[in-house]
Amino acid sequence: MTAPVRMVLMLLVALAGLMPAGALAHPLTVREQCHAEASAQESYASVSLDPRRWTCSADNYSIDSEVVFIRFRLDQTSPLPASFVTHAATFARVDLAVLDRDGTMRSLSYPEREARHLGSGPVVSVQLPPVTRNSEWVVARITGPWSKTVVSQARLDDDPEGTGWDLGEIVAMAMICGMLVLPLLFNGGFYVILRQQYVLWHLVLITAMLLQALVGTGFIHLIADLPTFAEGAVSTFCYGTIGASALMFTGTFLEPHALDRAVQRGLRLTAAAVFGIGAFTMLPFNALRLWSTLAIYLAMIATIVMLVTAQVHAWRRGSNLVWFQIAGWTPTVLVGVWRIGCYLFPAGHPTDSIVPYELSLAVEVVASSIGIISRIVVLRRERDDATALAQELEGEARRDPLTGLWNRHAIEARFRDLVRDGFRTMAVIDLDHFKAVNDSHGHDVGDKVLKAAAGALVFDADTRAIRMGGEEFLLLLRGPDSAERAERCRRAITTRVAAGVPGLDRMVTASMGLVEHDPRGALQADFATLYRQCDKLLYEAKRLGRNRTMREKMTSFAPDAALAI
Ligand code: GH3
Ligand code: MG
Ligand code: MG
Repeated sequence: MTAPVRMVLMLLVALAGLMPAGALAHPLTVREQCHAEASAQESYASVSLDPRRWTCSADNYSIDSEVVFIRFRLDQTSPLPASFVTHAATFARVDLAVLDRDGTMRSLSYPEREARHLGSGPVVSVQLPPVTRNSEWVVARITGPWSKTVVSQARLDDDPEGTGWDLGEIVAMAMICGMLVLPLLFNGGFYVILRQQYVLWHLVLITAMLLQALVGTGFIHLIADLPTFAEGAVSTFCYGTIGASALMFTGTFLEPHALDRAVQRGLRLTAAAVFGIGAFTMLPFNALRLWSTLAIYLAMIATIVMLVTAQVHAWRRGSNLVWFQIAGWTPTVLVGVWRIGCYLFPAGHPTDSIVPYELSLAVEVVASSIGIISRIVVLRRERDDATALAQELEGEARRDPLTGLWNRHAIEARFRDLVRDGFRTMAVIDLDHFKAVNDSHGHDVGDKVLKAAAGALVFDADTRAIRMGGEEFLLLLRGPDSAERAERCRRAITTRVAAGVPGLDRMVTASMGLVEHDPRGALQADFATLYRQCDKLLYEAKRLGRNRTMREKMTSFAPDAALAI
């Protein structure tokens, strides 16, 4: 089988979780492998006398006690082991003993910093004392492990240096790292052009993924010789950063109407908590030994729950960009769930999920990068539309000459595009008793009042202001707090007019009718229907005494189905 074919097959197998990804690499077998917990004072001799303390199947891994013994009964037909290999997670020291059939014992001790890190797999190895054909047992005594994987992934290896991954896995991981480097460069470029927050979050996300991939694969040892503890700290910190930046990316990347404020806040709070957990559990306090893995898994669960919640929410609100998120994150969420399962049931070999995990992150990066590109396309179209409109307005055709706002023609022509771009709140504002202003101060003063009132209506990226005619204005808004922003505009009319037109005998107030169109409903929001609904509400506000707002949420555009709130 050629190397690439083999690699693809192995990845498929590893993805399916059917076989430990590294199993092909190690021909050495032992007759039996058992583990037992012990206190720091107990010797192997005393623990070995009590068979009930030993577990010889691949489960019940626990690191609650200070010390874990692992004993291997050698298989005489297998090659002689020369090194002890385990997952590169933190531990304080490892003592190794080889026991011969005649009772002779040879031993060696290694503090963690003397364990050799391999640049080809997330493993450390130490040399065994000499093993001969007369040797029957190899016993490892591990002090202070931070992760169950130090016990569950322990094995003997016939290479004195220890073996890591085989070629297929190394190539696969190198490709994944390469896949992360490219978007890193692209995103740097995007940020220079776009200056959008979500590109920055994506940059943080990919940087943390890349760093974690380098540590998780052992590749970091090809560049620098980090001690295991520092590696663990980097990886833990990266988990927090990946979770937090993924949540922040989701919150900033989707369309303004896709997430309401509660979900936005949920994303930010969860991101802060997840980052905090990562930053705290990376600290080298021994008190964290038993809690750091659990804390990281809790952070993972919180990230997954919040991410899925936001995606479902955005999907129900008619977001298009959420599909990039769903496509990108579903594999990672599935691998995350598998990994959490492995933590609960360590017989499932958590380190087997490294390759699929990194692969799923690479899928995420690709999907998000395509999403970012599609957003660039949308931004460009919006910019082109705005330029075209600006040019048109230059010709004065669609501008109201008195106030400089858009006129009714301008809005009716662009209404469908604006709805597609997320403008789903319409507000009609009418000045109260305006005729009286004209009557007591003259038409010219009336015009000044209209100008001042128009000045109170914001025209920005998320707001369009239109003079419909006479003393009636219309706002179209997008974003989670559209209704509140419209209400601020309405109130600002009174202060603007008071400041801009001195000498009036009364306060000029305005009434407003506002409709929030719920995108879950049918999308055939034609201008006339929405406008008619706003006008009804405006009439109601006038009837109830003026200087107030009546608002509604519409789930469908049949006027009778309107739901008053
Ligand atoms: P309500 O609170 O019910 O809205 O009372 P109102 O007096 O504001 O409403 P009404 O529709 O009776 O009066 C609107 C007035 O606005 C009548 C018209 O003379 C005046 N108007 C319309 N366009 C202009 C304009 O361009 N300049 C000035 N100065 N007045 C205008
Ligand atoms: Mg009026
Ligand atoms: Mg009017």
